[in-house]
Amino acid sequence: MSRLTLFWFRRDLRVQDNVGFYHALKNAEQVLPIFIFDTAIIDKLPQQDARIEFILKALGDINDAMKRNRCTVGMYRGEPKAIITQLLDNYPIDRVVTNHDYEPYAQERDAAIEALLAEKGIAFENYKDQVIFEKAEVTKDDGSPYVVYTPYSKKWLARFQDHTPQQLPSEELLHKCIQTELPQLSLKALGFQPSGIQAPGDSVSNARIDAYEETRNFPALDETSRLGVHLRFGTISIRKLVEQAAARSNPTYLKELIWREFFMQILWHFPHTASKSFKPAYDRILWRNNEEEFQRWCEGNTGYPLVDAGMRELNQTGYMHNRLRMLVGSFLCKHLLIDWRWGEAYFAEKLLDYEMSSNVGNWQWVAGCGVDAAPYFRIFNPTSQVTKFDKELKYINKWVPNHQELDYPQPMVEHKMARERCLTTYKSALNPQ
Ligand SMILES: Cc1cc2nc3c(=O)[nH]c(=O)nc-3n(C[C@H](O)[C@H](O)[C@H](O)COP(=O)(O)OP(=O)(O)OC[C@H]3O[C@@H](n4cnc5c(N)ncnc54)[C@H](O)[C@@H]3O)c2cc1C
Repeated sequence: MSRLTLFWFRRDLRVQDNVGFYHALKNAEQVLPIFIFDTAIIDKLPQQDARIEFILKALGDINDAMKRNRCTVGMYRGEPKAIITQLLDNYPIDRVVTNHDYEPYAQERDAAIEALLAEKGIAFENYKDQVIFEKAEVTKDDGSPYVVYTPYSKKWLARFQDHTPQQLPSEELLHKCIQTELPQLSLKALGFQPSGIQAPGDSVSNARIDAYEETRNFPALDETSRLGVHLRFGTISIRKLVEQAAARSNPTYLKELIWREFFMQILWHFPHTASKSFKPAYDRILWRNNEEEFQRWCEGNTGYPLVDAGMRELNQTGYMHNRLRMLVGSFLCKHLLIDWRWGEAYFAEKLLDYEMSSNVGNWQWVAGCGVDAAPYFRIFNPTSQVTKFDKELKYINKWVPNHQELDYPQPMVEHKMARERCLTTYKSALNPQ
């Protein structure tokens, strides 16, 4: 067998416009494509996890695209370093190619793989794929990172005009993939059970992008793009989506995609913010962290119908509209004085579109402790939010049909008291005597 390039799919689960895959295929005679179900990640997941089903479906779609060329993605379960060592023993691999992954754990993992390959004299190539601009590509003129969104987005847009990235025809090179039987895995073999959760479609219409500014704040309309999970696992190309968004006259949707990259570069520059507040003074807050109250929040039994509707949507579908994510987050941190990290962890377990940088960044925004965060005294009123965003109670009626019945709980905390308690607690942490 001639020398092989190993292509390692991670969060780039598509054959079209996949930068690393394209370079792997273009510069090799034969490519061995693989995916590893990393036990360091999947062993911590609940038994019913829609994300595992999503990944398996995406790998199945890649297999379908490669069927004509009689190849498949090899699927492995285990520790990446051990799996790659085993593959190096079994195949004549002289090059390993993958796409960048910026999360702190992924960086550590990749550094270990790179060292292993270097020891064996094997090249490790790593490409930018999941963002338009990564790491320190968009910084202030002095090279320091932006920690405020608006100037970041202006610089991002200016750079985009000058450096619009090309889409690459990786799907035209699939004949270079190795034509051999590679191991396949099923949900059962991975130790998971069906979740019953349906993933959303993988495209957005121009009409939806054009109307986004007017529709995005009203959860009952359900008119956002639902592309979060596809961006998370790379089942769509960010270059294609940004090209579509940038061609529309209304820039609001594109700005959301820039928020995603803003938080990605924040996590990359400040990896400690995965578990610590960006503004350290906020880690002095004396959270109440009442477990029973946390449980009521998780279950959607707070007695505030809009908060409960959001939590029930999350629990039943793995999705929650952004308006509600902000409201339930504010309610947890400010009304209940529960540490934002508890909410972040709950979302990380439940969200199909869970993305560490966006989840941590937005939770810190909600709690007031992050970059460019909501001021701590901005406390959403869970009752007036209904008048603003669900006046006809359509969203509430869908998720909490019994909200006007006797069996529906009374509000677990009184708004005015909770607001004052929050302000006092935050103030004493931020201005210690
Ligand atoms: C507390 C909290 C936690 C969140 N956790 C996550 C998370 O784990 N993963 C995640 O992708 N988003 C997260 N978001 C951001 C936002 O709520 C979701 O991206 C959005 O609701 C997903 O739905 P959509 O795909 O229909 O988005 P659309 O409204 O159609 O937006 C398109 C895309 O833009 C990006 N985007 C939109 N808003 C934001 C934002 N505020 N921050 C970063 N990217 C954004 C996402 O990639 C999204 O898919 C969180 C927001 C809050 C307030």
